[in-house]
Amino acid sequence: MHERRANPSTHLSKSRIMSGLQCEKRLWLEIYHPELKPVLTASQERIFAVGTTVGEVARDRFPGGRLVEAPFYDLPGSVRETAALVDRADLPHIYEAAFETDSTHVKVDVLSRIADGSWHLIEVKSTSSVKDEHVTDAAIQWHVTEGAGLSVTTCSLMHLNSECRYPDLSDLFTVEDISERAREVRARVPEIIDRMRAIVSQPTEPDVPIGTHCTKPYECPFTSHCWRDVPKHSIFTIPNLPSKTKDSLAAQGVLGTNEVSTDELNQRQAAHVEMVRRGEPVIDTEAVRAAIAELEYPLYFLDFETCADAIPRLDGLGPWHKYPFQYSLHVLDAGGTLTHHDYLHEDETDPRPALAAALCADVGPAGTLIAYNAGFERGVIGALAETVPELADQLRAMLPRFFDLLVIFRKHYAHPDFLGSNSIKNVLPVIVPSLSYKGMAVADGNEAQAVWASTITLPPGDEKSRALNQLLEYCELDTLAMVKIHEVLRGL
Ligand code: SF4
Repeated sequence: MHERRANPSTHLSKSRIMSGLQCEKRLWLEIYHPELKPVLTASQERIFAVGTTVGEVARDRFPGGRLVEAPFYDLPGSVRETAALVDRADLPHIYEAAFETDSTHVKVDVLSRIADGSWHLIEVKSTSSVKDEHVTDAAIQWHVTEGAGLSVTTCSLMHLNSECRYPDLSDLFTVEDISERAREVRARVPEIIDRMRAIVSQPTEPDVPIGTHCTKPYECPFTSHCWRDVPKHSIFTIPNLPSKTKDSLAAQGVLGTNEVSTDELNQRQAAHVEMVRRGEPVIDTEAVRAAIAELEYPLYFLDFETCADAIPRLDGLGPWHKYPFQYSLHVLDAGGTLTHHDYLHEDETDPRPALAAALCADVGPAGTLIAYNAGFERGVIGALAETVPELADQLRAMLPRFFDLLVIFRKHYAHPDFLGSNSIKNVLPVIVPSLSYKGMAVADGNEAQAVWASTITLPPGDEKSRALNQLLEYCELDTLAMVKIHEVLRGL
């Protein structure tokens, strides 16, 4: 158990309170041991950057306002600047208005003056709907803003509108009045702040068991610290075990799969636990052979990488709509010859027409297309057919030719070391130990998306070439992994 470091800032902010509501230990660690947080990944950095951009674009919907410009670390300066702007009756809106009440500070995305002298508080989110945590977030801001002497009569959440389609961004945002919901939560905010203060004043790390709250509503940055003693085969790897059961077991200190009584589990979960106890895979060899025998050569192992923009920038797309920017394709012919093709879009233009054309050139008229979780690849090709009508027939003709490798592992092949997941990231190192994503500069789809989104804005040069090569290597491994998995299955 950690003791607290000396003299950190124990000031409460909205973000710290939100952390404390997720987990009291998280709040305490953020104040006293922030060094336990890992460095942000490219995809986490992208999430923060997107939030900032959406907030900035949202301000355009409230013209004539002023931004509080004091730097984020100068809290007293921000509060003073806000107070001066509040006094300017001609100013309709204040962006990033800062307030402090009882050593708790908040920044309000947009504060709009209402004719009767009261204020409309608007919180901006880059999601497509209102979530419970957004209401709590706004309620804390409301409490602190009123504590600073302003009368707030309306509270809204401004989020992205899922009906919006590029290039018409006039309806990019939806503003939902959440006053009623926020008012209910607001009544509890003083009590919440008192509780947070008590946690912050504790000399040692609060004793909070791990559980499903470690990832909900947000991924906690301290999992590598708190989860360090969780065994490889843990209760969190038992398929579809309800959150309530996991939390109850974790609270009792029951973390290992072996420690769970199978009486409390359904048939599938009990079978998983028994398999872990025996330490041996369960394979329906006949079913695997029958499935593999149906494949028609040449085999096309296909994987797409996709991106999604909060603020759409490509024709016909809405907020967070996915579009492909890269694929890798390994082709295995009946004689055993393997060839590799790929496509990676390198700039900010629309990748879909060129990618669709390359795909149609690379995929011949006969043979099975193999993907891992094929519904995704099918969905991407179906959407491409809508976007690139001149290739629609060719693209749609690919759809019935798909075979889903994932189904084999869902239905016919289980292994204790898949750790309760059939994802290719879990399956590959077990059945093809010579191939691994470990140590790759880009090691998962979220990272690939973040790296691509930042790389396409770069001018040609070494940095851009290096990032593009990392993307090519990553995507190629995804399809090579399928080739090798297929080889193992064919040898059963
Ligand atoms: S990992 Fe879980 S237990 Fe640890 S601080 Fe985060 S939420 Fe709390």
